[in-house]
Amino acid sequence: MVIVVGSLNMDLVVRAPKIPRPGETVLGSDFKQVPGGKGANQADAASKLGAETAMLGAVGKDSMGDQLIQALKKDGVNVEMVLKKENLPTGVAAIVVEDSGNNAITVAPGANSALTPDDLSGMEKVFEKAKVMLVQLETPIDTVKASLRMARKNNVTTILNPAPATELDDEIFSLVDILTPNETELELLSGMETDSIEKIEAAGKHLLKKGVSKLIITLGSQGSIHIEKDFVKLHPAYSVKAVDTTAAGDSFNAALAVSLAKGEPMENAITFATKVGAMTVTKHGAQTSLPLMGEVLEFDAWYEKMKVEER
Ligand code: ADP
Repeated sequence: MVIVVGSLNMDLVVRAPKIPRPGETVLGSDFKQVPGGKGANQADAASKLGAETAMLGAVGKDSMGDQLIQALKKDGVNVEMVLKKENLPTGVAAIVVEDSGNNAITVAPGANSALTPDDLSGMEKVFEKAKVMLVQLETPIDTVKASLRMARKNNVTTILNPAPATELDDEIFSLVDILTPNETELELLSGMETDSIEKIEAAGKHLLKKGVSKLIITLGSQGSIHIEKDFVKLHPAYSVKAVDTTAAGDSFNAALAVSLAKGEPMENAITFATKVGAMTVTKHGAQTSLPLMGEVLEFDAWYEKMKVEER
């Protein structure tokens, strides 16, 4: 079983020819309201990839909250531990997606900011059944820490996807089995530059010294780098045409968790996650772009059709 501790947000998505600069107004082309939030996206992805999945999080007592719960339930996620908080709205994310596929996001966390360590204490039973826990940084840091401690206590493998980028203390690093930053997050966490593969390796090694056991640094269309003590391996991305990179990291992390929960070795888990990430960027949306296990099993045939020779 995979458990996901994290955020549920309603994504308010506008498409536009380009992301506006400060003070600029850009005419967009279309508006959609779709379920999102890093936690919910990762839980939804894990369930679609066939894992028994439980979501631990919070929404407001409002219609958006109900819609988010329903969306997860429809895809098979156990939502019994999604709390409905009084006096706070459901979290929302305002997203602009450029025609190039790049995006810019602002999050108003609402009820996500009211998920407390005490809330998690009441959910300890589910940790006893879990193999892997996935957590991100869209809920309060004390709650993230409490979830990591509870996972450790119950022998659950912990994956921290440190997004959005925030500085972290060393205690957190020592509780994380696998840390999955992108370049920007790695730069902030290590305090080192990350603008070349060599510098990324050095920054990654610095975090290993702070107590993280394994790092997988995601590099968008360049793939990912797996770093452990005395071990570095690049996993190139598949060459596909990205139409929307929203949730690429979420689906990658979920796929990693699903594969590791099945007992697969890390190499296989990263290969699986790289396939899932590639499939996600070829579709629009967050939860709508997440592939089903059946689709990933047909990856080779899919890639024959979707492969792009020149980027
Ligand atoms: P994040 O959204 O957290 O920044 P990334 O954009 O690095 O995460 O994406 C996670 C993974 O998804 C990458 O390591 C890669 O394997 C895959 N991926 C992301 N963007 C692309 C792309 N344009 N083409 C192919 N694969 C991609």
